[in-house]
Parts: sequence; C-alpha cells; structure tokens
Amino acid sequence: MVQFDPISLRQQFPILSQLANDHPLVYLDNAATTQKPHCVLNAIMDYYQTSNANVHRGSHFLSDKATNLFEQARQTVAEFIQAPEESHVIWCKGATEAINQVAYGLEAELKPDDEILISSLEHHANLVPWQQLAQRTGAVLRSIPFTSDAKWETEYASYFNEKTKIFACAQISNAIGVQLPLKQLMLEAKRVKALTLIDGAQAVAHYPVNMAELDCDFYVFSGHKMYAPTGIGVLYGKEKALERLQPLQTGGEMVLRVSLSSTEFNRLPYRLEAGTPNIEGVIALASACDFLMAQDRQAILNWEISLANRVRRILLNEADIKIYSPENSTLVSFVVKNINLVDLNGFLDSKGIGIRSGSHCAHPLMAQLGVNGTLRASFACYNNERDADHFVATLLDAIDLLAE
Ligand code: PMP
Repeated sequence: MVQFDPISLRQQFPILSQLANDHPLVYLDNAATTQKPHCVLNAIMDYYQTSNANVHRGSHFLSDKATNLFEQARQTVAEFIQAPEESHVIWCKGATEAINQVAYGLEAELKPDDEILISSLEHHANLVPWQQLAQRTGAVLRSIPFTSDAKWETEYASYFNEKTKIFACAQISNAIGVQLPLKQLMLEAKRVKALTLIDGAQAVAHYPVNMAELDCDFYVFSGHKMYAPTGIGVLYGKEKALERLQPLQTGGEMVLRVSLSSTEFNRLPYRLEAGTPNIEGVIALASACDFLMAQDRQAILNWEISLANRVRRILLNEADIKIYSPENSTLVSFVVKNINLVDLNGFLDSKGIGIRSGSHCAHPLMAQLGVNGTLRASFACYNNERDADHFVATLLDAIDLLAE
C-alpha cells in the first residue's frame, strides 16, 4: 500500500499545476467530476499506442490484446467493488445510463398501482427514469421525505409495503453529502421483496464498497467521479436481477444468433452491452481502480473529511451562513443569506477557485430545504489545506464585498 503523502499524491494530477484567471487553481468541484492522475492518462495513451482494436472479434493479434485488457479491466472493477463475479459488471456510460437500463429493463414487470420508492434527496438521474417508468406503466412513484431540519426521515419503514416493487436510493447525496442508512433500508426493502438499486456515484471515490455487504440487487456509478474519464461507468447487479432486465439497447455484440425474424441474446455481461464499447474508457477505469486500491484509502478519506471539516468549522461561525451538509462529510454545502450564489461563485472563479452553485440536479431536495440552490465545495484526495484556507478566506472577502 502506498503511504499517504498529500504532496506526492497531488503531483500525480498534472492539471492542478496551472493558473486559473491568473491565480493558482483551486479545484473544489470534485463531486461534479474529478481530475485524472498520470496513470489514468497513460493508460489511455498506452492503449492507443499498443493495443487499439475492436474487442471480442478474436481475429488478430491486436484484437486479442484489446480483448484481454478489456476483460482484465472487468476483473479489476469487480475486485474494486468486491463483486463476487466479474460477469456481474456491466459497462455503461455512467450512473445515468445504468439507472435508465434498470428502469427500462424492468418495465415489463410493473403493473398499475405497483410502487417505486426512492428517497427525496436523489439526483435527477435517480428520479426522472423512475418517474418516466411510473408514467409508462401506471405504477406510482413515492419518496421518503426529508424532515424539515434536513435530517433523514427515521420512520421510513412505513413507506415500504407489499406494493413496493423497486427501491432506489443514493449512497451519499451529491447535493448535501448526507449518507443514507443503507443497511436498514435494504432490510426494509427485502422484507417486502422489492428489487433494490443503490446509486454509488458519490461514494466510490471516497469509500471502499463491498457488494456482498451492501447486498443490493443493483449498484451503479460513474468513472469520472473517481479519477477515470467521462463516458464510462458501471452497472453491477446480482445475476438473477440482471437476468430480469430487458436490454435497453440491442444490436451487435449482445447477440448469439440472429435471423431476419428473431434474435437470441448473448449471456451476461454481453447481453446488456450492445455495440462497440468504450474500450479506452474501460481500460482507464480499471487504471483508476488500481490507483485507488493501491492507496491507503482510510488515510485519504480522513484527509478529505478533515479538509471539509476545516472549512465547515469556520463557516459555522458566520451568522449569515447556513450549512446543509453534515459534519464528517467530504463536502460542504451551504447558503449565504441575502447574497446571490451565482455572484459568489463568479467572485470565487475570478480568484481561481472552482466550486459549484445551484440545485445540483436535485430540485425536489432543494424545494424541501426551501432554497433555490446551495454553494458546494467538494474535496478529493489531491486537495490540501491551502485549497481549503484560500477558499474560505476568499469566500469571506466576497461576502463582505457583495453584502455592502
Ligand atoms: N447520481 C449522483 C448521486 C450523482 O452525483 C450524479 C452526477 N452528479 C449522477 C447520479 C449522474 O452521474 P452521471 O452524470 O455521471 O451519469
């Protein structure tokens, strides 16, 4: 295991050593997407310089090489999420596509009045596909609400009943960093025999995940939030759950035999992977998994949390700031009374600081919190105390300036 050293870790991310608007870049929008280390960038370059060909065609040297890398990557990702079987790892574009695949794939199973249950803090990616599914099938979409003081509803057992066919929720909220009580929720879902999906998009970069422990039917995440490129992500599923899905896309690669009148689909995982896949993305995702698995992940998590807490402690003393993220999260999400968040964001950007303002694709959550949006500073392994301190100092300057 690599000893945790924030300085050498940061040096592995070449993009960070530039100026932004004439100031040293401070990148605190990691919940939106992370930067990529040398090893991931090199994996893409190496692939094109040594192994580029289409996969699973088995007809020549380069095709074999590409296929081997591609299927080894599946093993690496299975190891990363501690999945029992690599054939349960399905490649897709990202969390959004994975959730759409599950929602579409279960359409034939839903009847009018069946219930789909989600939490009310979901990213739109884990809401709109279910809402559309409900509209197409006559099923009812329900959500477990947040309490008014922004605490997770603890009386959630009553939301699960014999009509609940699907339960989907985030592991960690992208907007406010809250972690859901997955163990209890999965037990409740199992009690009523609902299929379960966990959206791990905000978890995998920070927490080791274990599919056997989570014991969900489906788990989804995007590579780009864990140091891999955009356009690649994973749908993990238990075999029986994956077998129930109708493929969202059909075409080449996912078939065994085709005649003009019928098609026999391939086995898993290929059945759910139509068309030429994102081969470079798959290989780069495996490289990001190797990168993370080689690190002292607990030390990185402690570091990220300590940076967020460092910011949080100071903001807590500001009367005009209301914080919505909990302590010991890897992000800080807050509003500043009477100051437009976009103006604050613009000021920070002019000083080289990249954070996110807005609804974070979580309109229903914002409505429950009674705000239009929040400012969110989210940390990754390469951030440091200078980033945190410079962000806070500049934010406080901006508040003084804009409040006048
Ligand atoms: N779920 C959560 C919790 C997210 O944070 C995001 C991205 N912000 C998504 C789903 C969607 O991910 P993608 O856009 O990579 O498909």
